[in-house]
Amino acid sequence: MLTNEELWKAVLGEMETSLSRANFITWFKNTTIVAKDKGTILVSVPNGFIKEWLENKFNKKILQSIRILNPEIREVKYSIGKPKIDLNKQDFSKIIFEKEFEDKNDAPLDADIDKLTNLNKRYSFDSFVVGSNNELAYAACIAVTKNLGKLYNPLFLHGGVGLGKTHLLQAVGNKISEHRERRVLYVPAERFSANIVDAIRNKSIEDLKTQYSHLDLLIIDDVQFFAGKEKMQEITFSTFNELYGKNKQIVFSSDRPPRAIPAIEERLRSRFEGGMIADVGVPDFETRLAILKQKLVSKNIELEGDVLAYIATHMQKNVRELEGALNRVIAFSQVYNKIPDLKETKNILTTYLNAPYRKTSPQVILKAVADFYNISASDLLKRSRKKEVVKPRQVAMFLLRDETKLSFPEIGQKLGGRDHSTVIHACEKIRNESAVDEPLKQELILIKERVYNSFDK
Ligand code: ADP
Ligand code: MG
Repeated sequence: MLTNEELWKAVLGEMETSLSRANFITWFKNTTIVAKDKGTILVSVPNGFIKEWLENKFNKKILQSIRILNPEIREVKYSIGKPKIDLNKQDFSKIIFEKEFEDKNDAPLDADIDKLTNLNKRYSFDSFVVGSNNELAYAACIAVTKNLGKLYNPLFLHGGVGLGKTHLLQAVGNKISEHRERRVLYVPAERFSANIVDAIRNKSIEDLKTQYSHLDLLIIDDVQFFAGKEKMQEITFSTFNELYGKNKQIVFSSDRPPRAIPAIEERLRSRFEGGMIADVGVPDFETRLAILKQKLVSKNIELEGDVLAYIATHMQKNVRELEGALNRVIAFSQVYNKIPDLKETKNILTTYLNAPYRKTSPQVILKAVADFYNISASDLLKRSRKKEVVKPRQVAMFLLRDETKLSFPEIGQKLGGRDHSTVIHACEKIRNESAVDEPLKQELILIKERVYNSFDK
């Protein structure tokens, strides 16, 4: 009987004869069999792109060449990540097959988010590029950190999606929480609401209010969400008054100015308007270029000037899109092990550029996610807590949230009648993890590609 190592060597030999050298290296470098269990073999691969390619393009051939040597094998699975086991030891019997999900569902990635404050250290003033589109908002934020609760209270930032509001809000929070004794809480309005709903249900609303009243800085992101929600507005209003009365700072953000938030009580609106209001706008070309350069610093890769200029020229809508384009180019360079030139960059970004109306439907998203993770769409809706469906389900929630206009409760409904707080948790988790987990980020890119390509056809 061959060892796993010998078996995989034989497969690689077989594959090598049928592929160009460059191709072979691209797809099979750093792959290895990490486990064998009855009829299934688990192959570890370095990232999501490779996983997808091996599954879709090479799986049949790989399986064939394995079966020549070991006919008992009926299936090959691929998992992202480095094998943690000593390949020279042959005791693979105890390895669990869901390793892939174990590796990524667990806590260490959440570690970037401070449990107490909800702040992500990634968002700092240092990593924020100031341009004419955001200089007022930036200056106001800096002023707030220097005169907490005394100068601009509340501070209200508004502007479109992906223009840096959350980044600035969190930067304020991070700066203030450098002082250990200061209590800071960052909370998206939707989470704030969910907490209130839970507290009402558990009859602990007074406790919750007391907790808020002890803060030195309360940051509520995306308050447009309070539109039409009277109870939330009432509690926000009283929390605000309590903190304001004690000279404690409150910072709000919204995708539009207070005047334009519909169905909001006049007294809360006038509170929003009572301090300092600053907007963030769309960055100009120079600022977009500076942002790209800023983002590259942390990515450990250099791109040519014309490549950066091309991205900055074509990604005008917002910074999130700009960053998305950059990430795609970087993902390319990782997969092909080369720095893309201008021509390749154009190719990489065509799907972005040719999709002016990025429209999709929940069904398309659910199908794309299920296909990608090789489960059935109905598995996403079931109650199962198995790891191989929990993660895809969370990814589906996240994508439904990001790519459609569905609300959290509606998403819960679509996914087999789940609670909105479950959905919020899933969305936050995937968003946070994808910020630091490169393979997950690439998986999301690949799934979105499927979503938008399938819609075209
Ligand atoms: P919003 O909350 O307004 O929707 P975000 O703060 O989430 O937008 O910004 C989207 C992404 O763009 C984040 O990754 C953020 O770090 C980045 N970003 C936005 N503006 C800037 C900027 N001026 N400098 C650096 N990064 C920025
Ligand atoms: Mg935001």
